Amino acid sequence: MRTALVTGASRGIGEACARTLAAAGYRVILAARSREKLNAIAEELRTGGAETFAVEMDLSSTDSVSSAVSKAFKEFGRIDILVNNAGITKDGLAVRIKTDDWNSVMQTNLSGAFHAIQQVLPGMMKERWGRIINIASVVGEMGNAGQVNYAASKAGLIGLTKSLAQEVGSRNITVNAVSPGFIETEMTEHLSPELKEKMIAQTPVRRMGTAAEIAHAVKFLASDEASFITGHVLSVNGGIYM
Ligand code: NAP
Repeated sequence: MRTALVTGASRGIGEACARTLAAAGYRVILAARSREKLNAIAEELRTGGAETFAVEMDLSSTDSVSSAVSKAFKEFGRIDILVNNAGITKDGLAVRIKTDDWNSVMQTNLSGAFHAIQQVLPGMMKERWGRIINIASVVGEMGNAGQVNYAASKAGLIGLTKSLAQEVGSRNITVNAVSPGFIETEMTEHLSPELKEKMIAQTPVRRMGTAAEIAHAVKFLASDEASFITGHVLSVNGGIYM
């Protein structure tokens, strides 16, 4: 049975990916920092008949990533699909942004994703099958005032995706990015109603997306049907950027 590791699975898009992959018959490893939330989701999925494993992982620490991945390997013996979803924002105008806020965003969103990839790649190369799906952002493609750190981390993920796709394609491992637009989750919850309205007005489908809509794209890229797609950035953004 194919096994997927989803980072940032404790809520939002990551939780939706874990639920969607579990419903599609994959074994799912749920990783994030909030153990209790992970346990609750994993337990609920198990009750529904899925095989799941919850593991605490802090993407900003290399040691935490490697220890979590080795626990997951011990549990299921393999990781065939990695969904690099965990991400944070620490917004501010470039002149004022604190070095700590630059570093923590880069560490979690970009370095963390890379460390997770390094942990799972040897197994995928041995198996000669793998799917790496990085959750980027429309902001990494078009930029956004007040988000230089976040945009740089997501643009970095896109560069990583295309470079790694070239390295590992011959091993039957595909590497793609899903680039969400404006999605209803905790990350966007605190934005002002005015800003939300402005973003919706700029989105041709005239609404925010749902976490499930991102998860469906992830499920497709994880499937055998997507075997000839690699190095691609799949926009799931309601048309806000084309
Ligand atoms: P969210 O609701 O804030 O969830 C973020 C997830 O990342 C949580 O599960 C959180 O879990 C985890 N996380 C944060 N820091 C972590 C760390 N250091 N180590 C491990 N896990 C960590 O955000 P979301 O909207 O679902 O976003 C998911 C991804 O989609 C992110 O990469 C985000 O940049 C991207 N995205 C979102 C939107 C949007 O409009 N919502 C648009 C474009 C792209 P814990 O707190 O439990 O660790």
